[in-house]
Amino acid sequence: MSTLRFHAIKESFTNKPILVEEKERRSDLFGKNVFNENTMRQYFTKDAFVGVMNAIQFGKKIDRNIADQVSSSMKDWALSKGVTHYTHWFQPLTGTTAEKHDAFFETIGNGMAIEKFGGSQLVQQEPDASSFPSGGIRNTFEARGYTAWDPTSPAFIYGTTLCIPTIFVAYTGEALDYKTPLLRALNAVDNAATDVCKYFDKNVKKVTSSLGWEQEYFLIDKLLAASRPDITLTGRTLLGHSSAKGQQLDDHYFGSIPNRALNFMRELETECMLLGIPVKTRHNEVAPNQFELAPIFEEANLAVDHNSLLMDIMGRVASRHNFKVLLHEKPFAGINGSGKHNNWSLSTDTGVNLLSPGKTPMSNLQFLTFFINTIKAVRENEELLRASIASASNDHRLGANEAPPAIMSVFIGEQLTKVLEELEGVTKGKLSPEEKTELKLNVVGKIPDVLLDNTDRNRTSPFAFTGNKFEFRAVGSLANCGNPMTVLNTIVAKQLIDFKKEVDLLIDKKGLKKDEAVFNVLREYIKSTKAILFEGNGYGKAWEDEAKKRGLSNNKTTPEALKAKISKKSIALFEDMNVMSKIESQARYEIEMEAYIMHIQIEGRVLGDIARNHIVPTAVKYQNILIENVKGLKEIFEAKYKTVSQEQIILIEEISGHIEGINANVTKMTDARRKANTIEDLEQKALAYCNNVKPLFDDIRRHCDKLELLVDDEIWPLTKYRELLFTR
Ligand code: ADP
Ligand code: MG
Repeated sequence: MSTLRFHAIKESFTNKPILVEEKERRSDLFGKNVFNENTMRQYFTKDAFVGVMNAIQFGKKIDRNIADQVSSSMKDWALSKGVTHYTHWFQPLTGTTAEKHDAFFETIGNGMAIEKFGGSQLVQQEPDASSFPSGGIRNTFEARGYTAWDPTSPAFIYGTTLCIPTIFVAYTGEALDYKTPLLRALNAVDNAATDVCKYFDKNVKKVTSSLGWEQEYFLIDKLLAASRPDITLTGRTLLGHSSAKGQQLDDHYFGSIPNRALNFMRELETECMLLGIPVKTRHNEVAPNQFELAPIFEEANLAVDHNSLLMDIMGRVASRHNFKVLLHEKPFAGINGSGKHNNWSLSTDTGVNLLSPGKTPMSNLQFLTFFINTIKAVRENEELLRASIASASNDHRLGANEAPPAIMSVFIGEQLTKVLEELEGVTKGKLSPEEKTELKLNVVGKIPDVLLDNTDRNRTSPFAFTGNKFEFRAVGSLANCGNPMTVLNTIVAKQLIDFKKEVDLLIDKKGLKKDEAVFNVLREYIKSTKAILFEGNGYGKAWEDEAKKRGLSNNKTTPEALKAKISKKSIALFEDMNVMSKIESQARYEIEMEAYIMHIQIEGRVLGDIARNHIVPTAVKYQNILIENVKGLKEIFEAKYKTVSQEQIILIEEISGHIEGINANVTKMTDARRKANTIEDLEQKALAYCNNVKPLFDDIRRHCDKLELLVDDEIWPLTKYRELLFTR
């Protein structure tokens, strides 16, 4: 083992930046491997083009005849680019992407063969689905699900395969993936928001939800990462003493991007361009060897697909540059973890960003309507929103090192806080002409000006308004954005429907004018959402105490947090919005709880193994060296030996203490795991893993990390933090 560490370090020194030439302009590369609108125009008949566009824009069904034309054109296009296989590409609840490749090649008898891709193969496929998680929806004896084409996300070529984005559902119709509920949620928010928009502009026919994610990650030398069994098996370090130099100096954040990393980014960005992923920014992050990549925002479904695709290709490109990408939320203790900020907004088919203030008082009232309704949606569903970002790995990040806490709150900035305060004072019922004028001129009308400097440097807010969008920052770097985006769009849809009902009631029953009714309902929302607004520093006891007084949830661990997914309220919400049936909600809860248990179980095994089989033997080895040394000193110095070997004797004792600590705690942890495994009830089992198994990780780690400081560096088996984090 120790030889592996030093071998890896030595090899890593020989790594040279792998030069990547950028021959073509990015704008020329963009979308080259995507079957996008442009390509469709070239390859499709008019019928096929209209059919697909109608499906994309209005969700119209595509008939068989059109599907045949589409598949045939897709095949021609793909063959012209050297493609041999096709696959239905989908996002099962394992959190990764899945694909099963089939060749276009088919024999037609008499020793002849053709390339074939029919409409039915495009539209529907039956993967062998038995090994994807289904949370009890599919019994194993009928382990069948099928994938179905999602025409709203264009097909693309990766390598020599034509990938067709699809949904993945059970034969009984329940969703088994991230995409299906997301598409339903996007539909729900479209309908609800379009109805509300009609108060302000009758021409609005469609509202689209947009997402711009920011992906943080660590880049670690591939060999060094491979030398650590914990990184290889769990994606994070389970032990390791912090490096003397960490991120204190902030020098990485402001520094230039190291060359090897830069070349990796160049190649990754080229791949992204070809796939139509509009990446735009790259920079260093706070922690050493931590980076970020962000695209221009896109329609939410497409953006989710693109993020999943990106996470996949990142790993492959990194490998070519001798790197391993760590997407885990907390790969290293004591320094910043990685998140995936989800910038979110809604915009109309008339080109208006509903979360951006406009030029007229009326458009600003529209802005306020969507702004305040979003806050209200978060207020009413904060626990569900927290659940949407819950995972074993994100638990480590939330509430530590500049990451948002597990308490959901909304940051809106000083100026908008003032605007809300003024609106809170609006008269009940009818407004006088003077009040209306005053509101329009001096409150609503001033918003664009006050917003100009709405900067937010409070990075700990989990949900912040940043000028023309909300930024959901609690999302973890490893997460599929589909989950939080489904929840966010669903709760906003529900809220907008409620809002419309209330406004209509005031118009119909109280005879209020439309804008009076809107002001009246918003005033009440402002009053009832105050608890969720928070501008201060998001961590520490002070905010926890304050949040508790405000009645906000603080579910620090995944098992606690996930319960909100199957509360009566959540189940009803998803049912009402046609996003998920009760069975689907429950299945997802089960899958996520099981995933949690499995993660902790694997980590426990790996940690036990490293501690007992790598660390303890090393400590014993070093202790023996010391014992030999003391024996030798005794021979030479006789009675005086105690003084000259004093330090060594203390060390020998200390090492024994830590060895004992490791063994006792590993035994305790193994027992706790065994006990947890006998529990039938899923929730109780997850809680046992969370409360009885996981805390022992810290005790084991503490002893190991202390030993790292005591034992001779030359025989220490595990690649150290400083080597992992500062090798460029
Ligand atoms: P930062 O948050 O790092 O200061 P920006 O405010 O420029 O940077 O934007 C961050 C992200 O927000 C980008 O990925 C961008 O695409 C996204 N974004 C900008 N406008 C919108 C919008 N209307 N809807 C969704 N995402 C958006
Ligand atoms: Mg941001």
